[in-house]
Amino acid sequence: MYHKSVTYLLQLTKDEINEFLNSFDTVLTDCDGVLWLNNNVIDKANLVMNRFRELGKKVFFITNNSSKSREEYAIKCKELNFKCDKEEIISSAYLAADYLKNCGFNKKVYIVGSTGITQELDNVGIKHTDVGPDVHCTTVPKLIEGIKLDQEIGAVIVGFDEHISFPKILKASSYLNNPDCLFVATNTDEQFPLNSEFIIPGTGTMVAAVQTCAGRKPHVVGKPNTYICEALVKEHNINPKRTLMIGDRCNTDILLGTRCGFQTLLVLTGVTTLNDVMEWKQSDSQDEQDLLPDVYLDKLGDLLPFLK
Ligand SMILES: [Mg+2]
Repeated sequence: MYHKSVTYLLQLTKDEINEFLNSFDTVLTDCDGVLWLNNNVIDKANLVMNRFRELGKKVFFITNNSSKSREEYAIKCKELNFKCDKEEIISSAYLAADYLKNCGFNKKVYIVGSTGITQELDNVGIKHTDVGPDVHCTTVPKLIEGIKLDQEIGAVIVGFDEHISFPKILKASSYLNNPDCLFVATNTDEQFPLNSEFIIPGTGTMVAAVQTCAGRKPHVVGKPNTYICEALVKEHNINPKRTLMIGDRCNTDILLGTRCGFQTLLVLTGVTTLNDVMEWKQSDSQDEQDLLPDVYLDKLGDLLPFLK
């Protein structure tokens, strides 16, 4: 069994680090846990990303977080001093809308999610249900009595929904009981990266609830599905070998990079720990070898001194 080598970037010589920095001309970066946590920039990540751009590298922000539209991410980037255009942001909410558009979808979408998804559907002219609380405050028979399924629904999208509830799971699964109803999930991340004693449920939690009840698997548009990158490679003519994928979560970011033939950089400011990496490294399972990054750093800002 071939065991992949994983290099701590700062153990290399200055020349080797420069060689690494010259080995890519496109940078794809995850956002939560790499660039920021909530509304706080992770130490100098913005300076590194802006510097990449000044050096003439193409930069794309790829996030599985479906809570915001691309417009909203562009505003957040500006506020946190990351230079970027809306077109350089690829969010899972955008991909979900883009996927339905490419399917020629012309019915209405039932959403378990938030305004990130509704705004992206509005942008492509696809009808959808409202988002927000849908609370169960009666008995199940009474709840069912009060629900009228909308015959126009032809797809269910599940994304991050902090108002997920019994009625929403019931409605989504009832629509999905029709085999012609499309089932799209933005992503399946288990948790949000957050420096805290609390564990914040991620979209994967919500998708699992609907998937279990409906007895069907969704089409997942976010990382590690290569759907994102096939489009990027085609539209922007990028060379996978000269592309760097940066992430904090190996089972989405790094796995996507491995599948697409990109170089991969793990930063330890989010979900995956060095212990995880060392365990996978010992493993004889190809699935776990595929999670391993080429190089890793404690944080993205550590690159700044080498980008002067
Ligand atoms: Mg992340």
